[in-house]
Amino acid sequence: MTDPNKRAAAVPGWKKLLSRSFSSPQELAPHFDLDKTALQKVTARYPMRINPYYFSLIKTPGDPLYKQAVPDAREIEDPAGEEDPLGEEALSPCPGLTHKYPDRVLLLVSNQCAMYCRFCNRKRKVGRPGLVDRKTIRAGLAYIRGHKEIRDVLLSGGDPLLLSDPELHALLTELRAIAHVAVVRIGSRVPCTLPQRITPALVRVLKAFHPLYLNTQFNHPSEITPQAAAACGRLADAGIGLGCQTVLLKGINDDSSVMFALMEKLIEIRVRPYYLFQADLARGTAHFWTPVATGLKIMRRLQGRLSGLCLPHYVIDLPGGGGKVPLLPSYLRQTKKGVTFINYLGREYTYPVELLEGLGEEGL
Ligand SMILES: *Cc1c(COP(=O)(O)O)cnc(C)c1O
Ligand code: SF4
Repeated sequence: MTDPNKRAAAVPGWKKLLSRSFSSPQELAPHFDLDKTALQKVTARYPMRINPYYFSLIKTPGDPLYKQAVPDAREIEDPAGEEDPLGEEALSPCPGLTHKYPDRVLLLVSNQCAMYCRFCNRKRKVGRPGLVDRKTIRAGLAYIRGHKEIRDVLLSGGDPLLLSDPELHALLTELRAIAHVAVVRIGSRVPCTLPQRITPALVRVLKAFHPLYLNTQFNHPSEITPQAAAACGRLADAGIGLGCQTVLLKGINDDSSVMFALMEKLIEIRVRPYYLFQADLARGTAHFWTPVATGLKIMRRLQGRLSGLCLPHYVIDLPGGGGKVPLLPSYLRQTKKGVTFINYLGREYTYPVELLEGLGEEGL
């Protein structure tokens, strides 16, 4: 007979996995050659958490998964960037709630994540007490109740799926009791960083609150494992619409063949690419920034070679609270004959002149 203790150790639950996370540079030292003293200064400011699942996906020091998870001395050396790059605090009527667009709000409901991504735009806040608590969540819900124009509530953090099942159930029940909230969205990286969290019990909680959408974040094809595929399959089977908000990151996915493979694989695990984000200008993340031209080149490479289902919108969330703007490579070309189109292979095509009137005016 199997010893129940041994079995539990062989198949740890998600909480057990989390509790075994690497949380200091010293714990990483036996595995990687790194400067413990320098990195301790980094983790004193920006916490580290690499759970054993994500750790197991790192193949070699410096690979694209290592770079997302392991602290780097440049995080505290490079002064570029802002503490609050998206101006979220100025647009917060109460702590933890951002009301930037007319019909939708972002509500932070957790300060924990299954991993602390080194490029995080909220890295000044995640993993620390004080970002959110019961009081800020209660105040956020009261604000939503009082603003009938809010149709769509995006739960974020930290990672909302690090709340327990009963906490999530209570939160979603309160949100769903607000008649004007038509749609609830959850932003969670857990399907990628700790897919074991997507248990059948969690899925049963979530599916009681439709229409419910979940946007996750995969940044590299190596993150699409059988475990991640199974987690996304469980969510999709429960009718939860899955999107992906990939972040464009230097040395990780700023390459069209990597991005091509990632977008193809996402569709295979039933996750629809939603946004490709230009990295936010958060302090301590400058070593991940890429030129906008890199993103446009990648989009030009994907468009036409991949199905429309595999194509995210490439967006910049403007510094200073301007919100998201989409960026597209231009498929128009001004020639002596007038405006022509360039297709994905670079070939030129004409179009009826009278239907091209007005192009070039007012930024069109
Ligand atoms: C991104 C974001 C949203 C959601 O934007 P969508 O384009 O609808 O996905 C809402 N509020 C804030 C503050 C955001 O940053
Ligand atoms: S999971 Fe999201 S919120 Fe958490 S550290 Fe990563 S990017 Fe930041």
